Amino acid sequence: MSQKKIVVIAGDGIGPEVTHCAQEVLKLIGTQYGHQFQFDHALMGHAAIEATGDPLPSETLEKCSQTDAILLGAVGHPMYDNNPGAKVRPEQGLLKLRKSLELFANIRPIKLFDDLLDSSSLKPEILQGVDILFFRELTSGIYFGAPRERSSNGEEAIDTLRYTKDEVRRIAHKAFKAAMTRRKMVCSVDKANVLESSRLWRETVNEVAETYPEVTLSHMFVDNASMQLIRDPRQFDVVLTGNMFGDILTDEASQIAGSMGMLASASTGTKTSVYEPIHGSAPDIAGKGIANPLAAILSVALMLDLSFGLEAEARQIEQAIDEVLRKGYRTADIAEEGLPEAKLLNTLQMSEQVQQVLKAQMALNS
Ligand code: NAD
Repeated sequence: MSQKKIVVIAGDGIGPEVTHCAQEVLKLIGTQYGHQFQFDHALMGHAAIEATGDPLPSETLEKCSQTDAILLGAVGHPMYDNNPGAKVRPEQGLLKLRKSLELFANIRPIKLFDDLLDSSSLKPEILQGVDILFFRELTSGIYFGAPRERSSNGEEAIDTLRYTKDEVRRIAHKAFKAAMTRRKMVCSVDKANVLESSRLWRETVNEVAETYPEVTLSHMFVDNASMQLIRDPRQFDVVLTGNMFGDILTDEASQIAGSMGMLASASTGTKTSVYEPIHGSAPDIAGKGIANPLAAILSVALMLDLSFGLEAEARQIEQAIDEVLRKGYRTADIAEEGLPEAKLLNTLQMSEQVQQVLKAQMALNS
């Protein structure tokens, strides 16, 4: 039996809708397997700005630094997206949380459920069997480097792409360790033909690779990687890359899974970890009750696996989702043309289907 504390940051837009579903699934797993999951709630993003004026109130940071894991919905609101000059923004909360908790490694599994082979924009024969694990550096690189500023006349702007060897080493070790439990291949993605920071990245990854002689390391330029990902995604096992390249490549890779609503991610460091769906707050569908909750539910499966070491429970959730999809149930984002009306589910109905299958599976196993 495990006793774990989980802080839920529901966030903005569809965040509260999908984290509610994920939390229900966690509660069910807790009841069925005899684990005690203790939930606490905290504010971040637009919701926090509205309530306190601060996108990451100190109370949230305090709670997050003392918990076993964090479940995050998403942050973001159109009122800031359409006003680039806004001084206080929801994403500042997320960036500060990552930096404060030293969440330097963003992990994104890219796997396709067989029954969604036709939902992707790529051909099924290219997709079958894809299983990629991305490691994206999350707390350095161009999103954090200084200086970042606009010239006084507003005609010039500068951002800084900076990495230290230590920053590369610590995420490279995580990627190689993960590769040891998989197909033992790491592809490091950079732009070493142009960027000095990428040459440092490549040199450091080569040094780390010496500690893992069983792992085959390859290097790929980011422009080629973006092409190879859709040409032949099966060639990749673990992909290791920097902050901005990872941001772009993982969104591209999300199309392999058919929808943003199907992919989970973990942001980990040395202390606690944040688990969240890869999608944003989706203001276009927020409040309509039609968001796909499966990415959030898969995020708690990742939490059970990576933070709590409860692998069987994590697989149980994935199997339940697999079965629900096999039965033909879909939310709107993954629905094929001509889907019978009875199979088209809203957010809560999809979550209830997953819970029903979980209960049935557990009854069988007990
Ligand atoms: P988005 O991921 O919110 O939405 C992109 C598209 O995918 C939309 O059409 C949306 O309806 C759809 N979509 C996303 N999740 C879905 C789900 N679970 N079910 C069904 N459809 C889904 O990206 P965006 O529109 O570029 O950004 C919206 C806001 O979210 C912005 O404010 C952005 O800054 C923020 N954002 C936050 C995070 C985060 O909190 N980690 C990540 C990305 C974007």
